[in-house]
Amino acid sequence: MIDTEAVHAGREGLAESGRHAVPIDLSTTYPSYDVEAEAARIDAFASDGGRLSGPPVYGRLDNPTTSRFEAGLAALERTADAVAFASGMAALSAVLLVIASQGRRHVVAVRPLYGCSDHLLESGLLGTEVTWTDPAGVAAAIRPDTGLVMVETPANPTLAETDIAALARSCGTVPLLVDNTFATPVLQRPAEYGARLVLHSATKYLGGHGDVMGGVVACDDEFAAALRQIRFATGGVLHPLAGYLLLRGLATLPVRVRAASATAAELAGRLAADPRVLRVHYPRIGGAMVAFEVAGDPREVVAGVRLVTPAVSLGSVDTLIQHPASISHRIVAEGDRHSAGISDRLLRLSVGLEHLDDLWADLDQALSESRSPALAAL
Ligand SMILES: *Cc1c(COP(=O)(O)O)cnc(C)c1O
Repeated sequence: MIDTEAVHAGREGLAESGRHAVPIDLSTTYPSYDVEAEAARIDAFASDGGRLSGPPVYGRLDNPTTSRFEAGLAALERTADAVAFASGMAALSAVLLVIASQGRRHVVAVRPLYGCSDHLLESGLLGTEVTWTDPAGVAAAIRPDTGLVMVETPANPTLAETDIAALARSCGTVPLLVDNTFATPVLQRPAEYGARLVLHSATKYLGGHGDVMGGVVACDDEFAAALRQIRFATGGVLHPLAGYLLLRGLATLPVRVRAASATAAELAGRLAADPRVLRVHYPRIGGAMVAFEVAGDPREVVAGVRLVTPAVSLGSVDTLIQHPASISHRIVAEGDRHSAGISDRLLRLSVGLEHLDDLWADLDQALSESRSPALAAL
């Protein structure tokens, strides 16, 4: 069961070694008196990029604390392996560099995506080329040089959902990447539906306390080996302290996600029944994110909250609100935002662990602050 695995995954061998808490290994380098054996291990890593046997050689290849987080997340996502990075964007960049290095630079992607993921693909900054489509158009958009299909479900910020199994069938042999940041493995394990790559901004629910940045890709051994080689070559490593905090975050992930989701579902219902709210987006699979379109000026709602924090990011123990058109998705061109369903009236709420009634009281008074009838200025 995931509750049990979340607590124990990544803690292998601790009790046998006389420890309870996971040790934080801050070494950047590791001594070795046997030059030939060390050379053989480096050769083995270079030839297949797999995990090093024995102690690490250097902190950019591997770290024992971060490895425990990777093993824990892979267990929760039901994948053979996982590779951690300094941030979610570093993780996505590594995936794009893997496919580009294999000569398949074309990506098929479904909007909406997280604003910076959209920008990374749209700008072609890493030498990739993108075709945007909807899930039904994916099969037709795939070309001989397509290296990746990418989707977010539920998507940021509209919470639009995609049928992962159906999409995986449209992908054929092209790897499907599902950004599972919003659902977390507590609500959805995309690998079970045929996704080859599962991406997380670990900065969000996995860490869960708004105090650590990280990213991780859960996948099979072969893709993990390619990602490790890119990580070694480009250096987007997760700091071991972050690896420690992320592993600790996994232990409470199911409890946090379920508690926040219950509150979010109730808030979504109250918002839907409120005349000051035009439309509520809440996914069928549930979750702790709610998006809603307001009749008044959404910026006045953000200005009016007192308990809720007006800030980007999500997945923390405290509730956050932001206006995607102004902030998280500002980098996406207005026309692309609108065609992806991101209304200028939309607010994105990341529900935390506060009491439902306190959150509702705050939203209720903030909605009353928003009196402007029209959004002409937006
Ligand atoms: C935040 C986020 C990212 C990017 O992650 P960082 O850790 O900020 O680099 C990617 N995808 C989604 C869905 C996100 O919310």
